[in-house]
Amino acid sequence: MNRMDFSLTREQELLKKLARQFAEEELEPVAEEVDREHVFPAENFKKMADIGLTGIGIPKEYGGSGGGTLEKVIAVSEFGKKCMASASILSIHLIAPQAILKYGNEEQKQKYLPRLTKGGELGAFALTEPNAGSDAGAVKTTAILDPKTNEYVLNGTKCFISGGSRAGVLVVFVLTEPKKGLKGMSAIIVERGTPGFSIGKIESKMGIAGSETAELIFEDCRVPVTNLLGKEGKGFKIAMQALDGARIGVGAQAIGISEGAIDLSVKYVNERIQFGKPIANLQGIQWYIADMATKTAAARALVEFAAYLEDAGKPFTKESAMCKLNASENARFVTNLALQIHGGYGYMKDYPLERMYRDAKITEIYEGTSEIHKVVIAREVMKR
Ligand SMILES: Cc1cc2nc3c(=O)[nH]c(=O)nc-3n(C[C@H](O)[C@H](O)[C@H](O)COP(=O)(O)OP(=O)(O)OC[C@H]3O[C@@H](n4cnc5c(N)ncnc54)[C@H](O)[C@@H]3O)c2cc1C
Repeated sequence: MNRMDFSLTREQELLKKLARQFAEEELEPVAEEVDREHVFPAENFKKMADIGLTGIGIPKEYGGSGGGTLEKVIAVSEFGKKCMASASILSIHLIAPQAILKYGNEEQKQKYLPRLTKGGELGAFALTEPNAGSDAGAVKTTAILDPKTNEYVLNGTKCFISGGSRAGVLVVFVLTEPKKGLKGMSAIIVERGTPGFSIGKIESKMGIAGSETAELIFEDCRVPVTNLLGKEGKGFKIAMQALDGARIGVGAQAIGISEGAIDLSVKYVNERIQFGKPIANLQGIQWYIADMATKTAAARALVEFAAYLEDAGKPFTKESAMCKLNASENARFVTNLALQIHGGYGYMKDYPLERMYRDAKITEIYEGTSEIHKVVIAREVMKR
């Protein structure tokens, strides 16, 4: 894409149409139930795979549907308008195949990518531990090589892992040389069902209830040495680079939910009559809508710019942090005003606004909190 050309290609327009239709026909009708019942929408994930959305950014030779980060932004933001949990599921799923594509050897790509794309298996990215959140370098899970069997033996616990309880293929960050700390961190591919790997607590959350968030327990879990992703000791770099890309996905979730909240608000203000007229006639309401629309358009522009940089192979750490910070704060601002515009009805579970208000909050926390993004941005801006 030329930097000043904001138009979508024909393929991107088609993708947008496909994702929008899928969101309207498959995601929206079950969004309320998914939230109420805290149920992972497994059927819908399978359908996403059938129409190629779980393979965005992965070349066709590995079962993917091609495209890059802008395509991810298009699909995830369309989902976010109708069902934030599904936007989150798709966005976070894509981290594992992206990491395998970037750091995996040919054998790993052939083995895992078709499963994670058209095969319909969910991917997960397991970095966080009870004492390693923002301080990701404090990971304690170990993977010690057993030279007799050529297997890594994993021991430790991961927490808050999106889709961890459902995933077929997980990229797990471990210490292969614990004494070296950060420099001893490596990324290892773990398959569901590997003996010694079990699922612990499933979290009960404020929002994105359909995205199962799980504790993962490794007790003498043996994984072949061939599952090492990239080189030993490069795990922290792999994790940070994967998060740079993933943050654009969170930005896309945030602009999607903001745009969805604006659509609902515009409809509502034209229907709701108070003082004998639609509340759309009130200037106070118009100013709310103007602020919501302006800030969301700006958030989208920054998310798409970060996507453009990643797709063009240019440095994008700063822009990815900026777009996530800005879009997530905006999602909280917009869903709050949208709920306000809906008055008492907005507070009721009969309307989707209270769910969207709860769902939006996660974008300020996962894949790095807002505070951590400010640390990253300041570091990049103040670089000498
Ligand atoms: C629903 C959900 C899904 C998640 N999914 C995944 C997943 O799939 N994979 C995964 O690996 N992790 C996942 N996470 C973990 C998530 O990335 C962490 O929760 C997040 O990075 C924050 O870590 P923490 O919760 O330990 O908070 P802490 O790091 O303990 O932070 C507490 C507070 O201190 C602030 N703080 C910490 N350090 C600094 C600093 N240097 N400067 C200023 N302020 C600071 C934080 O911003 C925050 O406000 C998920 C979390 C949630 C809630």
